[in-house]
Amino acid sequence: FAKGPEAQAVLDGIHSQFQLPTEALSELTGQFLQEFKVGLGNYNHPMAMIPTFVTGVPDGTETGTFLALDLGGTNMRVCEVVLHGDKTFTLRQQKYKVSTALKTGEATALFDYLADSVDAFLTSHPPTDSPAGRGNPLEPTPDVVHLGLTFSFPVEQTALDSGKILTWTKGFSAKHAIGNDVVKLLQDAFNRKHMHVKCVALVNDTVGALLSRSYTAGGCVLGAIFGTGTNGAYVEDLSNIRKLANDPAASRGGLMVVNTEWGAFNNSRSHLPSTPFDNGLDRLSINPSFQAFEKMISGMYLGEITRNILLSLVDAAPKSLLFGGKTTPALNAQWGLDTSVMSGVEEAWEGKDIVKWASSLVARRAALLSGAAVATVLIQTGRAVLSGQEGKPTKNEPKIGVGVDGSLIEFYPRFEATLRESLRALVGEEVEKRVDIGMAKDGSGVGAALCALQAIKAA
Ligand code: ADP
Repeated sequence: FAKGPEAQAVLDGIHSQFQLPTEALSELTGQFLQEFKVGLGNYNHPMAMIPTFVTGVPDGTETGTFLALDLGGTNMRVCEVVLHGDKTFTLRQQKYKVSTALKTGEATALFDYLADSVDAFLTSHPPTDSPAGRGNPLEPTPDVVHLGLTFSFPVEQTALDSGKILTWTKGFSAKHAIGNDVVKLLQDAFNRKHMHVKCVALVNDTVGALLSRSYTAGGCVLGAIFGTGTNGAYVEDLSNIRKLANDPAASRGGLMVVNTEWGAFNNSRSHLPSTPFDNGLDRLSINPSFQAFEKMISGMYLGEITRNILLSLVDAAPKSLLFGGKTTPALNAQWGLDTSVMSGVEEAWEGKDIVKWASSLVARRAALLSGAAVATVLIQTGRAVLSGQEGKPTKNEPKIGVGVDGSLIEFYPRFEATLRESLRALVGEEVEKRVDIGMAKDGSGVGAALCALQAIKAA
């Protein structure tokens, strides 16, 4: 790196663009809270605040044996989950590849493949008896296996066991699926093969994280993903979900889990600290101006922002400031720098000072913004008051459970510590100390099983 006062001035300029003083974080959180409220009252808002029809969270005493199918990550997975009723579970799973031909062909072919995979799994993994015991009213009849589907694509859910596919993402584009009920597509495929499997519940991965952490920790209020993307689901009072006012589900009152889709926060970017490095990423992304918050936070994007910073230093005029103006094919390629590399650089490598500096700027901002999302949920649910505002929290539990999943929060150095720093700034240390952040291990499988249990209890 070219040292000297001019080079330092360039670095200082970039550094200042990535700062998030408490006032900025606090204003952003206020805006976040407003978007929550708009989404709870309206359909077709970017912050979708999707009602999930999950009406409570487990406490760890639940029992049963369920199948779970997880579609939406890199691999498709089938698993059998046995809930022992003492906050523990056993899980057996098999991963299956989904080819590009299946992702982009006819939906019936894709769903037939899912059904075939479940069939293959049942053959290789004969069902385990449930701890609840045969004859228990919650048990499926011996010849029907209950399955929960974790489907991590945008869905408009209308009941625990039905939801219309709104759009495909992540490289999927199967034909004749959009607008159809994903549970019906799957169940029809089981039925075509005369399989004794019944899909009873549909969940999103964030809801899975919330339910599974709640099961293993004996309670939880928020499930959040910080992986390829970011999103959160939390427990809301039904009376606050104003767009459900005329739905029969609302008349019972009580609680319902809401999938926020917070990755879409502030798509207009009026409150997000956008830099030229963010703007460049957004312009060349497949969804310009969508998922604005996610693009500053999640694993899919942090490497690219960092790459843009490094390239600006390589390309600086009149004199290159980095690597003598030379780059590598990886540094030249869009998405050429993976977030896991940043993680590695921050953890260990010596002598890569500028790469480390850029990585920590980008990752620190991501973790501070993640804290704002968590703080918003705490404020919305009456567990905290935004610093500097009047009023007192209405809930004061000794422990506020937050279940998390994703490589960023699991592996990125200091990500959780910085998220907590943000929480302290936004809601104060007394609340932050009570926030219990824990990994939701096998969240999508265990969450789908817990949701399936809730579905058959309600039926
Ligand atoms: P998914 O969200 O698809 O279930 P992950 O939680 O593993 O999967 O997240 C994958 C994302 O995390 C990728 O964008 C990758 O760049 C990033 N990632 C993978 N390993 C690490 C790591 N050690 N540190 C930080 N980020 C990582």
